Amino acid sequence: MQSENKRKPIVAGNWKMNRTTDDAEALAGGVVEGVLGLNGVEVVVCPPFTALERVARVLEGSTVSLGAQDMHWEAEGAYTGEISAGMLLTCRCRYVILGHSERRAYFGETDATVNQRLKAAVAVGLAPIVCVGETLEERESDVTDQVVRKQITGAFQGVTGEAAQTVVVAYEPVWAIGTGLTATPTQAEAVHAFIREVIGQLYSVDVANAIRIQYGGSVKPGNAADLFTQPDIDGGLIGGASLQADVFADIVKAVP
Ligand code: PEP
Repeated sequence: MQSENKRKPIVAGNWKMNRTTDDAEALAGGVVEGVLGLNGVEVVVCPPFTALERVARVLEGSTVSLGAQDMHWEAEGAYTGEISAGMLLTCRCRYVILGHSERRAYFGETDATVNQRLKAAVAVGLAPIVCVGETLEERESDVTDQVVRKQITGAFQGVTGEAAQTVVVAYEPVWAIGTGLTATPTQAEAVHAFIREVIGQLYSVDVANAIRIQYGGSVKPGNAADLFTQPDIDGGLIGGASLQADVFADIVKAVP
């Protein structure tokens, strides 16, 4: 599929289970300063739930958006330990990461529950960042495309084309997350183009060309530019390197 790029790149920091509220506030302040004046890229930080309120206050009046790292699909009820989309909205979140490989591997999330979460998020106007990606074993068995197709098809099941355009997809090869191994720009671009093709088949070329697809997996200032300049890579989802404001800002600056 010919990728017609009018998409605004998006770089998001996934802080995972790191930073106390005080430390989160300081980190968010550093990010706001570090990306000042960079208008061609959307920047998002995703702190732990406990720090959302405090970070929201730091981001007020800045160009940096707030995201959460997960949510439940029900609006409220007896779901101990869970957080709903509506609760995230009241914390001023615009984004929510869904289906991260750590959630899938350690907390039993499946394509079906990612789909439930995605539908609940878009229903209230939260933009999901949906993570997909293959394990090392799957890549070595040459089934990356099948795995990613299944994850994308599952996540978008029953979602309208209009809602789908608000979704960000993060292609994160599981073998590259937190390992220091990065997909080469060529490897990453091939999967991004494939994801866009699958979305085109599910919806239309217009929807496929509108959806932003981030790369995630050991992105650093030194490899970001080569990845972000690929035609179907619209920025990145950054884990470890998002925990230092200057390093994260250098990654944001690598967006062409
Ligand atoms: C992630 O967990 O989403 C991620 C990309 O992590 P890292 O950048 O540390 O590989």
